[in-house]
Amino acid sequence: MNSLLDLTGLTDTNQEQAAKPLSGLVPVLLPVALDQTYDYFPPPEGAPQPGSFVIVPFGNQTRIGIVWDRPCSDGEPKKVNPKRIKTIAEVLDAPPLPEMSLRFAEWIAKYTLSPLGMVSRMMMSAREVFEPPKPRFGVTIVEGAKRPPRMTPAREKALEIAADGLIRPKAALAREAGCTSGVIDGLVTAGCLVEAAIPEKRCPQPNPGHTLVEFSEAQERAVEGLRAAVDAQNFSVTLLDGVTGSGKTEVYFEAVARALEKNRQVLIMLPEIALTSQFLSRFEARFGCAPVEWHSAMTGTERGRLWKAVATGEARVVVGARSGLFLPYHDLGLIVVDEEHDGGFKQDDRVNYHARDMTVVRGSMGKFPVVLASATPSIESHVNARTGKYRHLILPGRFSGTELPEITPIDLRTEQPDKGRWLAPRLVNEMAECLERGQQSLLFLNRRGYAPLTLCRSCGHRLECPQCTAWLVEHRFKKRLNCHHCGFSMPLPETCPKCGEHDTMTACGPGVERVAEEVSERFPEARIALLSSDLIPGLAEMREVIRQIEAGETDIIIGTQLVAKGHNFPNLNLVGIVDGDLGLAQGADPRAGERTFQLLHQVTGRAGRAQIRGRAFLQTHFPEHPVMAAILSGDREAFLEQEIQTRQAGLLPPYGRLAALIISAKDKETTELIARDIAHRAPKAERIMLLGPTEAPIAVIRGRHRWRILLKAPREVDMQSYLREWLARLPQLKGDIRLSVDIDPYSFL
Ligand code: ADP
Ligand code: ZN
Repeated sequence: MNSLLDLTGLTDTNQEQAAKPLSGLVPVLLPVALDQTYDYFPPPEGAPQPGSFVIVPFGNQTRIGIVWDRPCSDGEPKKVNPKRIKTIAEVLDAPPLPEMSLRFAEWIAKYTLSPLGMVSRMMMSAREVFEPPKPRFGVTIVEGAKRPPRMTPAREKALEIAADGLIRPKAALAREAGCTSGVIDGLVTAGCLVEAAIPEKRCPQPNPGHTLVEFSEAQERAVEGLRAAVDAQNFSVTLLDGVTGSGKTEVYFEAVARALEKNRQVLIMLPEIALTSQFLSRFEARFGCAPVEWHSAMTGTERGRLWKAVATGEARVVVGARSGLFLPYHDLGLIVVDEEHDGGFKQDDRVNYHARDMTVVRGSMGKFPVVLASATPSIESHVNARTGKYRHLILPGRFSGTELPEITPIDLRTEQPDKGRWLAPRLVNEMAECLERGQQSLLFLNRRGYAPLTLCRSCGHRLECPQCTAWLVEHRFKKRLNCHHCGFSMPLPETCPKCGEHDTMTACGPGVERVAEEVSERFPEARIALLSSDLIPGLAEMREVIRQIEAGETDIIIGTQLVAKGHNFPNLNLVGIVDGDLGLAQGADPRAGERTFQLLHQVTGRAGRAQIRGRAFLQTHFPEHPVMAAILSGDREAFLEQEIQTRQAGLLPPYGRLAALIISAKDKETTELIARDIAHRAPKAERIMLLGPTEAPIAVIRGRHRWRILLKAPREVDMQSYLREWLARLPQLKGDIRLSVDIDPYSFL
């Protein structure tokens, strides 16, 4: 998806399907894999407002459903025997979804070919949305109460703390005073403390005028551009394109401020991992309070409360991962997508949607501006900027004035690391000097674990996942072998499972853990931080590690792509790319080059952000490869030019459309047979190219065999209609056979 114009075609099909509801009946959508609403009789108190959440009988169960404002169905509306129509059991006490949410859900369902029920399920967030907030009780001081006759140091302390008049949960006061809750109870009995309801948490209100930022000339132009877009109160997309450290965040905060002045809500969407405390404190510095956060680490209670706060408009600015897009905004007036090129915005689970693209759709539906920010925008967004579909605002240099790091290649063909080591001597020397100067260095390797492959030195047997076409990856800290596709895990064997030899299993190749091992052997005195998603259990721990690095409590950082995202480490001056070629070996993936460029550029951009120019070393076997050459020369434009030409010539996105069908089943032959049969039944279409069916590069995942069909067509072709026609003609899939549709695929494995 890349065109705003694509909208029109799809919204039209929605209209066609709008049939007249049977008089008096209420269409209800259930959040399950069904693509149609069901009719119900309204409850005695009358038909609920569209968007309302209701409890309905369904089969022999009851379910939560959403009242739709018109009947929807994937085909001919089914005739239902009026005697079998049931009545809505209960209307839930939650704010109804706004009409915009219903239209947005319909649009996504049509575009991604996902059941409408599954799309609307993403808008329901948590069970707690439908539950009234539980009142919480605490204790507070009774003004002017007599001191209890029997005073103890514990009582004294508790009363001292409570003297500020706040209402605290008993346990919290006891903890603060270092006493038991019995002491607090005693004070209540004595009449010094009284129980009181704790007021519900309210969202803090960001103040657009909290600070005034002075901008450079280039920044000022971009700020003006964004303010104008917000002032227009109309749909537009702006690509905010500037190197890391150029002040993009600072600049788009002004657009946020403007939208707040106009009393509109704002969504700032970030890749989950970029939701660091650093970002939040910068927001707070600019607006005087923290934004509302929306991400996977929240509890259900928090979700419920924030969902409602977004619906009522109490939440002004939401900073969130991709699911923030599905909140029931009262009056959304701006979306900023930071790191817009990030692959994490594509969801490949149930509903395959790209959150950045859906943001553009949402802006168009809601008639408000969308800002896409990145230091390495996607090819899609570049092309849209070039053709004038998007506005293009460029921040040319770093705000601090320091130049981008100097990047030096280390040709691994001639400058090899020592045997069993992964860092070339030159890189090691640089790290030693960095350490001497008291500066930080960072090593990047986008591979989790200790070693990607374990084999037997005696018989050559390789340890493979029993359920997937994949090697098992050694994780030395956990002393286990894991499959990165299905989660299979086993202890490291001491003998070869094939030949039975003892102590012959050998690790091949490096993962971050192995690089960390080398570093701690070489620099035993250095303080090392290892950042890898499997070693850091959650967002809170991640934030703590990032804080330590910022505070200079770390000398050497070793990490996977976690370290590439939006962090600002002021004391970091050296970056080493352990294996620059790693991302290029992705076979059929048309974005492999682009992604490698983005990742390497982002990682090297971490060096030298504050005062001194940073340095980066790129270990590679192919320094002459176009991606490496572009990184080394810093000539982004030349690289873009070449990528764009390749895409154009190959009819690849954004010049062409792609869609993938993935067929999977437990049985190998069945999978192949069905895949061939499905391909065989494809309707004839001159302009749509069918590639495959072929066995997927990862032929088996979780014991399911996989085949793929790739569709390619020029941009103007309505791929969805074609697919719908094709899929409608297929015979019912039997047994465990599954067919999934991936529009605009980002994974080709
Ligand atoms: P980007 O998002 O493009 O990587 P940031 O917005 O993070 O850039 O800016 C990089 C650094 O420069 C930050 O520490 C930021 O506070 C600072 N900075 C950028 N613009 C200004 C400005 N106009 N005034 C003061 N500090 C700024
Ligand atoms: Zn597996």
